[in-house]
Amino acid sequence: MSNTTMRALVLNDYATGIFTDTRLPRPVPGEGQVLVEVHASGVNPIDYKIRKGVAPYAMPELPAVLGTDLAGVVVEVGPGVTDFAIGDEVYGLTGGVRGLPGSLAEFTAVDARLLAPKPRNLTMREAAALPLVFLTAWEGMVDRARVQAGQRVLVQGGAGGVGHVAVQIARAFGAEVYATASATKRAVVEGYGAVAIDYASTSVSEYVAQHTGGAGFDIVYDTVGGTSLDDSFAAVKRYGHVVSCAAFGTYNIAPGSLRSMTLTGIFVLLPMLTGEGRAHHGDALHAATRLVEEGKLKPLVDERRFTLAEARAAHDALEQHTALGKIVIDVRG
Ligand code: NAP
Repeated sequence: MSNTTMRALVLNDYATGIFTDTRLPRPVPGEGQVLVEVHASGVNPIDYKIRKGVAPYAMPELPAVLGTDLAGVVVEVGPGVTDFAIGDEVYGLTGGVRGLPGSLAEFTAVDARLLAPKPRNLTMREAAALPLVFLTAWEGMVDRARVQAGQRVLVQGGAGGVGHVAVQIARAFGAEVYATASATKRAVVEGYGAVAIDYASTSVSEYVAQHTGGAGFDIVYDTVGGTSLDDSFAAVKRYGHVVSCAAFGTYNIAPGSLRSMTLTGIFVLLPMLTGEGRAHHGDALHAATRLVEEGKLKPLVDERRFTLAEARAAHDALEQHTALGKIVIDVRG
């Protein structure tokens, strides 16, 4: 094949949500960009929400190449980039949203500020599983709630993509961590050092009484939304902090207001959509690389393999909740 073109999945129509496997011109990196040969593309709920046309706040103009997370190798360096060189293994949350082409393609030209060196002790698949969920968890747990050693932290949805990383970040900062999960995923959250709470069989008043003597948690990170976020307002201690990456409904925040809680909403795509704050994403991923290389953070990756041609099946596996860990698409090889 010509090295002026590349294979890519293109979405032409939100109504059908069908990917067309096609060839596109291989991008040329512009000012501040590098060209990355994509090895693996991590799948997040926002990927299928965009493909289905139900995320108007992030949907690109069509035709578009989707795919938010990537891990790969720098093969060309654009003008003005000094932090990366040809041959560097990198990862990042780099595209697949309005204005930024995604990782369901053999190559993509990305803003170098969004990248960090891939942790040496992770495979490409593992690295591609991390950026979006890490940045979401880090922004809430560290940038906003400023988690501290000794605090009691509750993660709602502790076995999910964002949740399992939020648990590990809080543990790395020395917090005492509790996490809700279904009974079948108890071992996952326990494996990351959290006390598991079966949300199907335990009420919020029961677990607040059992684990905090009724006082509530210093920080509650809710990754679920709906009634789980309602529970979070009842689970936080007085003057505590509730963080949510899934507050897209209508809520009565009175139970949290009566505790003088701080409430933080997270929207991790903002720096990509607005162009502001992108360097912070690169910096936070450098912190992720350090945590991974110190053995304090490891993504859980679902064992199933999906090729580029099977990207739709990968989306369905995540959407239908059949995954144990993150779903990753093998773009290369
Ligand atoms: P995910 O991997 O599908 O995880 C969702 C988790 O929720 C599952 O592990 C599931 O646990 C758990 N869950 C479902 N019902 C629950 C309940 N009633 N109580 C406690 N846990 C429950 O998804 P994700 O990648 O972590 O993303 C989570 C949500 O946040 C999605 O809606 C996503 O779109 C959103 N998100 C938003 C941002 C942002 O910037 N705002 C960023 C990332 C993600 P079990 O399997 O144990 O039932």
